[in-house]
Amino acid sequence: KANRTVAGAGLQDGGQINLEDHEKNGPATMDVPEGIEACIGNTPLFKIKSLSSETGCDILAKAEFLNGGGGSPKDRVALGIINLAEEQGLLTPHSGDTIYEGTVGSTGISLATVCRARGYLAYICMPSDQATEKSSLLLKLGAVVERVPPAPIVDPMHFVNRARTLAAEHTADPNRLGRGYFTDQFENEANWQAHYDGTGPEIFRQCGGNLDAFVAGAGTGGTIAGVARYLKPRLPDVKIVLADPQGSGLYNRIKYGVMFATTEKEGTRRRSQVDTIVEGIGINRVTANFEAGRELIDDAVKADDEQALAMARWLVEKDGIFVGSSSAVNCIAAVKTAQQLGPGHRIVTILCDSGTRHISKFWTRAGTIGGKTESKLEDVIGTQSQN
Ligand code: PMP
Repeated sequence: KANRTVAGAGLQDGGQINLEDHEKNGPATMDVPEGIEACIGNTPLFKIKSLSSETGCDILAKAEFLNGGGGSPKDRVALGIINLAEEQGLLTPHSGDTIYEGTVGSTGISLATVCRARGYLAYICMPSDQATEKSSLLLKLGAVVERVPPAPIVDPMHFVNRARTLAAEHTADPNRLGRGYFTDQFENEANWQAHYDGTGPEIFRQCGGNLDAFVAGAGTGGTIAGVARYLKPRLPDVKIVLADPQGSGLYNRIKYGVMFATTEKEGTRRRSQVDTIVEGIGINRVTANFEAGRELIDDAVKADDEQALAMARWLVEKDGIFVGSSSAVNCIAAVKTAQQLGPGHRIVTILCDSGTRHISKFWTRAGTIGGKTESKLEDVIGTQSQN
């Protein structure tokens, strides 16, 4: 009789458990995380089969949407920022202390989750043009949500400025319980540090210490900076590639050393809003977390909205992977990097969050699988292999 086995992510012995052996002898050790916070990090790295076979490279995805808190890489950041603030005596659980953050969604969801687990209140300011799934979810997590009109960073009502102001007002008000703490994901360097401590070493270990390129978009820049800072000293030849959506200024920052964005259609300069359907990546200002890794970034790849929509459809159709818009942009840049490096290379990118967070906006535009689908990779990324 063949041994019965069961597969599972995170299980030892290559993900296989021998059931006969376990029934007879019992499992060797118990491996149960202590609470939801302990399910943050140690995400799987898996091969995207369709893109790998099309390019002749190993295109590997770090499945950050499987993080245990809010289901994105921001879980690591939320935990890192709160841990540091507690160590510094700036936050005390169950004291009425309230965390304020300006976020397009993912960081807010992660903060709201970790705040619940730790005994804090979360007050989230987000632009009103982001997918409504995210604000609905935040409300269900018991966060206060303030949706502010999209505004440039110089405007006091910009979501980041609004959160900073509210935190200061809270702390200054003697009639309010606890303190206000502005987590400041764009400038707080505990952000990239969380990826230096977690995402980077995990990727290095999961690849057996060998990869040729790491590709990621930047919202705050924390992911690309933290991973680059971990990988570069260990693998000096590893290429760090920025994946940038249309309307973002970061591509020009890396390619030409200047920070301005142009929209393909209008050819106009835009300094504040990022003009794209993609949520979570792309920015038009310099942030401490992006600057922490900027000099380690070797190249940048740009993707427009139509390519992002096409790649998202492709990933579902070919692989059964249902992700959000930033993950699709990352995959386009991973393919273009594979084409530049040539067959036989190993490229790692990030799948940031699930498509379920993007149904009402991005996925509504992407359409239904079985409708307009791409049969060839050239239909997704175009025929040119350059950026
Ligand atoms: N994808 C999504 C969906 C995000 O919300 C973010 C963060 N805003 C990112 C990617 C980019 O991560 P980072 O802030 O580390 O650059």
